[in-house]
Amino acid sequence: MNDQKRTALVTGANKGIGFETARQLAQRGFTVWLGCRDEGRGVTAAKELAQDGDVRFVRLDVTDEQSVRAAAARVAQETGALDVLVNNAAIALAGDGLASEVALEVVRGNYEVNVLGVLSVTQAFLPLVKRAQAGRIVMVSSSMGSLGLLTMPNSPLLDYPSAFAYSSSKSALSSITAHFAVELRDTPIKVNAVCPGYNATDLNQHRGTQHPSEGAKVVVGAATLDASGPTGTFFAADGPRPW
Ligand code: NAP
Repeated sequence: MNDQKRTALVTGANKGIGFETARQLAQRGFTVWLGCRDEGRGVTAAKELAQDGDVRFVRLDVTDEQSVRAAAARVAQETGALDVLVNNAAIALAGDGLASEVALEVVRGNYEVNVLGVLSVTQAFLPLVKRAQAGRIVMVSSSMGSLGLLTMPNSPLLDYPSAFAYSSSKSALSSITAHFAVELRDTPIKVNAVCPGYNATDLNQHRGTQHPSEGAKVVVGAATLDASGPTGTFFAADGPRPW
């Protein structure tokens, strides 16, 4: 894929995997919009990434429909089309746990950002992605959301503390991914979900075992798939993940 003068938007791009994804896309020649809910953090991140290429801050709180619409209008006005949409922003609220015990407000809070936020952003930006020659939509998911992994004998997910709210929000993200991929099957747009691996970020109090620039490579791989690449899949650095 020729990356020259293409445009990308990354949600939650002021830190962690989103920040490193923005950096790598900018280094590949994309004009990159950093969608950040906090202006101060977003502007600081954009300044830090200025040395990597054309990086622009746009205020975007994925839970605030007005801010999502305003961000889409700004990108439409300034760059006209969007080649790559990376739905990266997510939260993992404290108080998560077993499905039988977790407070509904923790589930609701996770779903507002990780599920409804992604749906809202994808709906708002899809017209811009359709205007690009070969749009790519990347859902930054997690193997924690894989129902196939969860229900297999000796599931590797049982090695981690139960986090129903976060994990099931990523399972719902799988559904969003598959539905958009099928809806867009007759277009050049590819929609895939990726697991970036276990990265040291604020999301996991920096317990992750790799630098977020490693996780970002998987995201960028899905963002820059060529025409022969897949759509409607879920994969990580080491291969496919079951839904
Ligand atoms: P992170 O460092 O906590 O970054 C999350 C980003 O999302 C921040 O920029 C945050 O902004 C933003 N965000 C949160 N709520 C938002 C909202 N309402 N609107 C807009 N932005 C919002 O987390 P990360 O580890 O980089 O996670 C990035 C993605 O990777 C997530 O989808 C996560 O589920 C996924 N993931 C991470 C790991 C891992 O090991 N870290 C593993 C699997 C999957 P603020 O700074 O304003 O809070």
